[in-house]
Amino acid sequence: MAKDSPHKIILDRKKALGGRMVILGHHYQADEVIRYADFIGDSLELARKVSEIKQAQIIVFCGVLFMAQTAVILAPDKHVYIPDKHAGCPLADAAAIDDVLRAWEVIGELGRVIPITYVNSSAEIKAFCGRNGGAVCTSGNALKVLKWAFAQGERVFFLPDQNLGRNTARTLGLPDQEMAIWDPLNPPLPKALENARVILWHGWCPVHAPVMTVRGVEEARRHHENVKVIVHPEADPETVMASDAFGSTAQIIDYVKAQPLGTRVAIGTEINMVRRLSESYHAIVNIVPLVESACADMAKITPEKLACCLMELTEDYRVRVPENVIADARLALERMLRI
Ligand code: SF4
Repeated sequence: MAKDSPHKIILDRKKALGGRMVILGHHYQADEVIRYADFIGDSLELARKVSEIKQAQIIVFCGVLFMAQTAVILAPDKHVYIPDKHAGCPLADAAAIDDVLRAWEVIGELGRVIPITYVNSSAEIKAFCGRNGGAVCTSGNALKVLKWAFAQGERVFFLPDQNLGRNTARTLGLPDQEMAIWDPLNPPLPKALENARVILWHGWCPVHAPVMTVRGVEEARRHHENVKVIVHPEADPETVMASDAFGSTAQIIDYVKAQPLGTRVAIGTEINMVRRLSESYHAIVNIVPLVESACADMAKITPEKLACCLMELTEDYRVRVPENVIADARLALERMLRI
């Protein structure tokens, strides 16, 4: 007998589980996966959605592991699954908790320092921030969270994305001289931290930072007359400066929607999202990718793996976070949701 296709298995399981299950999908997922999502969003939208889910007991997360962990932290009574636990994030992995605790022995002595972590971080890093009076932020609310942090303390320890941290701090008006980088392999001397109001962890996203460049922006301007360029704030600060605007996934969508008819827009973010935007808004604007950059970890989620996950819903797919980590990480996430 012929085997059922992943498509049929997914549809059958969705029907069988009905309102007991919700599939969440991040914008960077490929079309062949995102079509099965009940709700699509960026990190902030998905975190808010998780907090609102009432009826469903099962959450299947089509995204990367830290996102599924965030769902566990926000809804510990739910069963959260991911189709591939190896879908990680090199940016999140850049901040190992032991390295961060070693850094905190020095940074924590500098006065009232508020630790802020980008949501693209491990559950342990979120718990560290929660325990120490800090919060989580996303690329969509980083400015608001940074302002909040400066209302609580004199300095901010920003993890793990140095580019999001610097781009946001610059928007707040802080000069680069008041920012320092903490590289765990080559930590700065305490003297170098004296004037630092923001201490940035030495991490970056390989999908945005090294591939989206000033030269790429200049080339887009050369090839496309009157093009508007918008990049994600995980891009490096000089690229952001060379662009017309920067913003989170949701802010990029708003930017596109606000353009006059016929505008050409070059977008610097993950390619699945750029392609989808281009298809959705082709009648209004002409969207081109700044560069074709795909997230290899997001691509680990496939219809085949989603079908297996939905068929089995076993420990192989279940995402768990230790109880003590949940409690502290939740503090940091809930602070963000309140800001
Ligand atoms: S796009 Fe970058 S930050 Fe997002 S999951 Fe992939 S590697 Fe991590």
